[in-house]
Amino acid sequence: MVSDNLAGPFDVIVVGAGPAGCTAATILAQYGHRVLQLEKESFPRFHIGESLMPLTFWPLRRLGMIEKLRCSDFVRKESVQFVNDLGKTSAPFYFHQTHPHESSTTWQVTRGRFDQMLLENAREKGADAREGWLVHDVLFEDGRAVGVLAGPHGEPPAPIHARVVVDATGNNAMLSRKLKLRCPDPKLRKAAVFAHYAGATRDTGIDEGATIVAHVDQRRGWFWVIPLEYDITSIGVVADIDYLFKGRKGDPAAVLDEEIDRCAGVRPRLVNARRTSQVHVLSDFSWSSTRCAGDGWVLIGDAFGFLDPIYSSGVFLALVSGERAADAIHDALLHDDPSERRLAAWGDEFYRGMQAMRKLVYAFYTDGFSFGEFNRRNPTALKDLVGILIGDVFTDAVNNVFNPMSQMCPLPEPLTLASSAPTTGAAAG
Ligand SMILES: Cc1cc2nc3c(=O)[nH]c(=O)nc-3n(C[C@H](O)[C@H](O)[C@H](O)COP(=O)(O)OP(=O)(O)OC[C@H]3O[C@@H](n4cnc5c(N)ncnc54)[C@H](O)[C@@H]3O)c2cc1C
Repeated sequence: MVSDNLAGPFDVIVVGAGPAGCTAATILAQYGHRVLQLEKESFPRFHIGESLMPLTFWPLRRLGMIEKLRCSDFVRKESVQFVNDLGKTSAPFYFHQTHPHESSTTWQVTRGRFDQMLLENAREKGADAREGWLVHDVLFEDGRAVGVLAGPHGEPPAPIHARVVVDATGNNAMLSRKLKLRCPDPKLRKAAVFAHYAGATRDTGIDEGATIVAHVDQRRGWFWVIPLEYDITSIGVVADIDYLFKGRKGDPAAVLDEEIDRCAGVRPRLVNARRTSQVHVLSDFSWSSTRCAGDGWVLIGDAFGFLDPIYSSGVFLALVSGERAADAIHDALLHDDPSERRLAAWGDEFYRGMQAMRKLVYAFYTDGFSFGEFNRRNPTALKDLVGILIGDVFTDAVNNVFNPMSQMCPLPEPLTLASSAPTTGAAAG
């Protein structure tokens, strides 16, 4: 028996309380469904992924988060700025110049606090959200997910049943791994090394909250510089795994220091700064699942797939997938039919949008391709290009960018989801 008093039965169990899980849990609770959300950590916990995209505005508004964010100390983000490997800085891409709307001011968020706010909001809206609960497995009967095996840390797990299980476990990707749906992106075998700093130099006025993307010497990698509240700045380098780790002596902190030395856009900003966190490493994070749902189960956020950190699209895609999946789950529950057909209804359109972002990721990593040159040759595409950078990817307008861009660099063929693939043997486990 589960030790804690769980007032089941549940309509939905959401595993994980990052942005994707909290979005799905909140919306399903708002619809009036009985939602249990299980998170293995106790919040606040550290997480990378601090820079929001402007169009997070819409799902955040639906969750009732905009006023809470406006009252927070989170730094306002108005633009993105690129610095080349020689230290030459581009003019900032101000989101409001091409998209004048209140959503064009967004936030740089310390994820521990941001995710805690989302979780508290899910509770306020009626989700039974538990921290310190580890989900060990998803339970299947006759190829259909029927619940989870879970328990508080240190206690033996027990089965808990629900009509739908949502996997929002982030890069752990519990179900995608179990069902063998996980496909790495072979061209994006990257790693990231990152930490927080106090006292880094930042710009002033409207540029204070800008995300800065700065190339390392000879474009071997790139840094993000994300200004957070209380004078903390998130700094991290992304590059090929082999480049960052092969044949180097020393620990990740030494790798980070060496790369900072090689980056003309970051080095001067850290002259008077000191590191305030441990140095974190993540690698091989670009992949996606071949399906987004099956009978009784759904994958959202990073548990469905993750592209690359370059455009800060992760939280946006987590929120949007959480929102769209929640609507599909609501429809399935109303029809008493939590089948793959209903639960996957959101997947194709969402995945098409994700593929648009993926094309832009490939362009960024193509040797010899430059967005500056693209803009010079295609000035009329600028609005739609910035549109993709703010998250406007679920529209045919993306082709106004990719048709001319494909003349300048090879773009990947879009991937599509497998529909109604037969449930694998693993699913019966
Ligand atoms: C280097 C790097 C930089 C990034 N920078 C940005 C950025 O600037 N902006 C941006 O938008 N995105 C960024 N991202 C992406 C962003 O971090 C993710 O896309 C986002 O956190 C996904 O949210 P999620 O809810 O899907 O998963 P997560 O936020 O990872 O949440 C998953 C939750 O599930 C819990 N969990 C896992 N397993 C279990 C289990 N078995 N039982 C119970 N709970 C479990 C975890 O503890 C966690 O709290 C970055 C990613 C990387 C790798």
